[in-house]
Amino acid sequence: MCDFCIQHGDGRKWYLQARNYSEDLLSDVRRRRLIADFFSPGKRPARRRWPRGTGLLKRLPPFIRRALKARASRRMRKSHFGQVLPFEDVERIFGFVNSIVRVPCACRYTTLGREEGYCYGVSVGPGGGALGDLLQGLDESFLHGPDGSGFDTLPVEEALLAFAEHEKEGLCHTVWTFLTPFIGGICNCDRSDCLAMKATVTHDVKAMFRAEYVAAIDPDSCVGCRSCMRVCQFGALGYSAASRRAVVDQTACYGCGICRAACTSQAVSLLPRAAVPGVAGVW
Ligand code: SF4
Ligand code: SF4
Repeated sequence: MCDFCIQHGDGRKWYLQARNYSEDLLSDVRRRRLIADFFSPGKRPARRRWPRGTGLLKRLPPFIRRALKARASRRMRKSHFGQVLPFEDVERIFGFVNSIVRVPCACRYTTLGREEGYCYGVSVGPGGGALGDLLQGLDESFLHGPDGSGFDTLPVEEALLAFAEHEKEGLCHTVWTFLTPFIGGICNCDRSDCLAMKATVTHDVKAMFRAEYVAAIDPDSCVGCRSCMRVCQFGALGYSAASRRAVVDQTACYGCGICRAACTSQAVSLLPRAAVPGVAGVW
């Protein structure tokens, strides 16, 4: 279990607890302001280089660098922090929320300068509840986009189909807090365009936990086609020429399950991280 499961989930998966999506939490004015700022692109310069100060950081002594990164991560844990989760847990979340709305991804807007509908606001309030009201009240030019498709309310079946498509694109599902522990959305990320994933994996500034799972490959089912290797964003898959099979480095695996979706031989499964010695405490 990650720290958030202990602190915000009573020892169960914190992102499966409906109270972490509650309207009560959303009534906090600071939280509402954070969400409004997050989805108001006018307040953030598009195409901003990320993370700012990376060049400067590299020139600092290692112990200062480590301290600054740890401080940045601690701040993110309190405000906007994520966790990787596989498709089945997205399905579980969609089973108890009352509203799913697709909105343009704030990261892509920042890194690419355009709207891409990869983020999904989720709410337990009927008809979108307070989150829906908040999003609807924001800058329409961003949330509706030039093609008018930026802010869609989706039925569960349609949202799941969209997530299955995102898996085919090789995108990794991640759940996000807005002033922890309130969860306001699920995004679909890659290392190229997701600022938090880039910060975590490339720059070692932790902005998200790994999933509560880790991948395993059944050597009897694997045919060595390497399709899984092409989609893993974390460099966790390799190929054994001797056995002509894919192999997973579980210490590098984030447990996203995207390799499983790419494997037509059903050779990949996700194991509970807690049950795998050596990586049970690796987040
Ligand atoms: S995609 Fe499946 S069958 Fe192909 S190498 Fe990976 S695990 Fe093996
Ligand atoms: S090995 Fe599979 S589950 Fe693990 S990080 Fe790579 S794609 Fe995700």
